[in-house]
Amino acid sequence: MVTPSALVDRLAQVRAQIETAARHAHRDPNAVTLVAVSKFHPASSVQEALAAGQRVFGENRVQEAAAKFPALRAQYPDIRLHLIGGLQTNKAKDAVQLADMIESLDRPALADALAKAADSVGRMPDLLIEVNTGDEPQKFGVPKEQADAFIRTCRQRFGTSLKGLMCIPPATQDPTPHFQLLRSMAQTHGLPVLSMGMSADYPQAIAQGATLVRVGTAIFGARPATP
Ligand SMILES: *Cc1c(COP(=O)(O)O)cnc(C)c1O
Repeated sequence: MVTPSALVDRLAQVRAQIETAARHAHRDPNAVTLVAVSKFHPASSVQEALAAGQRVFGENRVQEAAAKFPALRAQYPDIRLHLIGGLQTNKAKDAVQLADMIESLDRPALADALAKAADSVGRMPDLLIEVNTGDEPQKFGVPKEQADAFIRTCRQRFGTSLKGLMCIPPATQDPTPHFQLLRSMAQTHGLPVLSMGMSADYPQAIAQGATLVRVGTAIFGARPATP
């Protein structure tokens, strides 16, 4: 956790760096949305960011998001909450109720669960397919070689609710080739949204066309060990 004023300063720095990276890439800075990743940080930190004008937040656990965000949303109805973590099928209904975007659709069983949940809840959040661009066994995301087929079937099933793709490159590699791969997959399928880039690499992601960057530590400071 950082002190409130430090948080506001860091948020302003990240916004400034997004603008710089976009201008370097000859892109409109407004085409890049900052998702402030508030996982493990208390609602009071989210409040500070809200007071500084931030509205889009990312959480990776449904339970934590459900504990923090409904009260904040009552206060700030224009909040947009993105679920960015691996999602269990038994959390699909809660996820569909809570989220404005689910960034981690990565397998047919989850697609089934989300479709069923959307039917029963009567709303469907925007969806991104997470691609495991590094084919890392411990990571979430559809394996690279299955991605094209999965994107096609999700497109047919979810129509315009499917907005784009998300990736988390391997921590030990240059992220740029992974960002390029994700961009080319999105282009192939005509998907407009590219969620890529975190605290360590969001300028590189913007250079490769990111439209969403998911930044936690650079805004909120180091995460506490437990939420
Ligand atoms: C935690 C997390 C982030 C933010 O990571 P930082 O390095 O703290 O910016 C981004 N994306 C996902 C999927 C995450 O789980």
